[in-house]
Amino acid sequence: MLVPQADVTSLGSAIFAALAAGAFRTIEDAQTALCPEYRVVEPEPEAARVYEDLYALYRELYFAFGKPDAPAVEVGKICPRSAAWPPLQEELHETTDLREEVLAANLELVRRGLVLYTFGNASGIARDESLVVIKPSGVPYEKMKPEDLVVTDIDGKIIEGTLRPSSDLPTHLILYRAFPGIGGVAHTHSRHATAWAQAQKEIPCLGTTHADYFHGPVPLTKPLTPKEIRSGYEVNTGHAIVRRFKNQQPLHSPGVLVAGHGPFCWGTTPADAAHTAVILEEIAAMALETITANPKAISISKHLQKKHFFANMAARPITDRRNRDLLPVVPKSLRARAEGKCTASKIFLRTRLPDVP
Ligand SMILES: [Zn+2]
Repeated sequence: MLVPQADVTSLGSAIFAALAAGAFRTIEDAQTALCPEYRVVEPEPEAARVYEDLYALYRELYFAFGKPDAPAVEVGKICPRSAAWPPLQEELHETTDLREEVLAANLELVRRGLVLYTFGNASGIARDESLVVIKPSGVPYEKMKPEDLVVTDIDGKIIEGTLRPSSDLPTHLILYRAFPGIGGVAHTHSRHATAWAQAQKEIPCLGTTHADYFHGPVPLTKPLTPKEIRSGYEVNTGHAIVRRFKNQQPLHSPGVLVAGHGPFCWGTTPADAAHTAVILEEIAAMALETITANPKAISISKHLQKKHFFANMAARPITDRRNRDLLPVVPKSLRARAEGKCTASKIFLRTRLPDVP
């Protein structure tokens, strides 16, 4: 369709048509792409027909609205294809599961004494949908419910939730983008790990407890520059971490000390990330006490480090069915479009139909 800029009505219709045809994931995406330049969009006939069905349903509902004698409308009658759509509950259930996992990971940080008040945050990602679930900002842990958690897309746009996401969300998102093998991130200001971050020292591998989880020292980022602090601080924190891992596998060192700030940890699941945060705190405390006992303590041999790390890694179960088949971080709708597999059912899983009497 050709979208003339001057014709706002046509533009609005085109945006919704393009959205329904699966060309964009959100109204905002469609607006960004379709305004203000002229664009030509060719909807897939299959998907366009579904849009027409939906439009018929919309008209039916619109003209019946507020009329006491209006006939009851059944979605399936007006839009028979809807019967073939996979149940909406299935996708919501996925998000519900992830909300519960992320809430449990956040509570684990509190239970283990890693978090005071509202410091710290944990998140998780459903790679298939590129949806991130994160703790809301400023809600006391003891009152937090799964529905309080915020669901965003990989760009940080809120998909579900009425509360503000944690202010560290941009850092989490940078990590999810850069490290496709991770499924959860946990950030704390836990005392001992933060002490090392503030001292701007990597934690040397002084024993096998450390070697079981981190292959080599716990890495430290470079401090941010004044310019990086002034603008896009949280994003730049993420970039500083990613730069530190330029030549290092993120799952071989599942956490980092951000200089002058504190630890960020990750894992294949939110629970895994929280677990690593707990372990890192213990490793940090042990290392401080080791150095107090013997300031000349040295790292264990590379051979012993390697043996412990890889033996422990092999023994860990793969618990995350969601992220087992890791895919590039590309929104599903765009990926499907690129592969020519954009089907109506995939598109309309995202469409919330109104409750029909
Ligand atoms: Zn912090």
